[in-house]
Amino acid sequence: MSAADTGSEPCQGAGPSEATLHTLREAFNAGRTRPAEFRTAQLQGLGRFLKDNKQLLQDALAKDVGKSAFESDMSEIILCQNEVDLALKNLQTWMKDESVSTNFLTKFSSAFIRKEPFGLVLIIAPWNYPLNLMIMPLVGAIAAGNCVVLKPSEMSKNTEKVLAELLPQYLDQSCFAVVLGGPEETGQLLKHKFDYIFFTGSPRVGKIVMAAAAKHLTPITLELGGKNPCYVDDNCDPQTVANRVAWFRYFNAGQTCVAPDYVLCSQEMQERLVPALQNAITRFYGDNPQTSPNLGRIINQKHFERLQGLLGCGRVAIGGQSDEGERYIAPTVLVDVQETEPVMQEEIFGPILPLVTVRNLDEAIEFINRREKPLALYAYSNNVEVIKQVLARTSSGSFCGNDGFMHMTLSSLPFGGVGSSGMGRYHGKFSFDTFSNQRACLLSCSGMEKLNDLRYPPYSPRRQQL
Ligand code: NAD
Repeated sequence: MSAADTGSEPCQGAGPSEATLHTLREAFNAGRTRPAEFRTAQLQGLGRFLKDNKQLLQDALAKDVGKSAFESDMSEIILCQNEVDLALKNLQTWMKDESVSTNFLTKFSSAFIRKEPFGLVLIIAPWNYPLNLMIMPLVGAIAAGNCVVLKPSEMSKNTEKVLAELLPQYLDQSCFAVVLGGPEETGQLLKHKFDYIFFTGSPRVGKIVMAAAAKHLTPITLELGGKNPCYVDDNCDPQTVANRVAWFRYFNAGQTCVAPDYVLCSQEMQERLVPALQNAITRFYGDNPQTSPNLGRIINQKHFERLQGLLGCGRVAIGGQSDEGERYIAPTVLVDVQETEPVMQEEIFGPILPLVTVRNLDEAIEFINRREKPLALYAYSNNVEVIKQVLARTSSGSFCGNDGFMHMTLSSLPFGGVGSSGMGRYHGKFSFDTFSNQRACLLSCSGMEKLNDLRYPPYSPRRQQL
């Protein structure tokens, strides 16, 4: 079933034109997106888009970053499908007014929180999970009853094409539009007034988006990046840790905002970890990872050159090879890395894992706390007290003990950053709440006016004691 079956017109993958934004705003003002039936139909359309175009999406993701079908399914298509299903299942409950308690003066009134849509929402996505990071927030925005402008990344151009050409066929054109463009066009788009902006991308562009939002006092969610520390305690099985760290570091060729960016461990653990990481890399990608169908490629030449520059930091213990023609960088481990080197100054966003040695847990925690608060923080230890200490004495958007980014698969957990890794939360019900204005409502009865005498002037000393 396509959009036509839901009585909707397909929307256009072009813009941004004043006319498109005007159409969306008019539709919102007319209340088109508010009924639960409309939201349900759009969510069902989104589900069909994912199902009908699974192969096309896998192909596009493979062309953009060499993503394997398994990685595309696991981290993009299935996650989005689950999010759609969850929203469809819970929509009626999420939309319900939430009753709250009253006090003495409002005893005979009804107090509740109404979850109302903000209005016209702008969602800007990056290229590294170009489907997931567009669709996951879109589910929340639709469920909450908003009209939406979607701006995919121009860098993941194959996925951008599918989103622009096909997604609109499954949604109502008067309420949803895909707008294309890079920095210049997005800058133009941001001059318009939106009622909510949801941005995923780099901290640098996050500041530009936040400044643009401030001009209209538009509320905003910023899902940003940074360097995610991974502490490995001496009390660990190195092979188990290496398997988990390597999988999450080299997944999507390391181009993952929640990937462990660097490992902090003792010199002794480094010596045990390097051969274990070599084992894991060979097992996952074979003797020559360049020929593995399971290892992705770097998104573009600029990022390839940036990552090549980082290979000169510390000493290469594993990997280090690259091939410009394919934008291939081997799964790499760097040792003897200094805190001051470039690889420890910027988010790596590639298949390079530096190991930085520390003397003990205190030094590791001090190292983490000297830096910006990360999006995710990982700690590995067989001693749960060590994990608890890392959790208690640091801060991050999310935390995962003894694993990689599996916390991302739970829609029961809010996802987002803190400090320079972002602000705001989404996934599951948190997305619905993010895209809803939590309107505080009190409905009083017009009777029992005598009771109100207590609050009107003239105020007697006795009344002031109330
Ligand atoms: P980016 O900030 O360069 O681009 C993100 C979006 O902003 C794109 O749609 C792009 O077209 C637009 N854009 C770029 N420059 C702009 C400008 N000057 N003005 C207005 N818009 C502009 O990010 P990216 O390179 O696409 O993605 C990588 C970054 O995103 C990394 O820092 C990564 O950690 C972060 N990220 C964060 C999350 C998260 O959930 N927190 C997820 C994925 C990626």
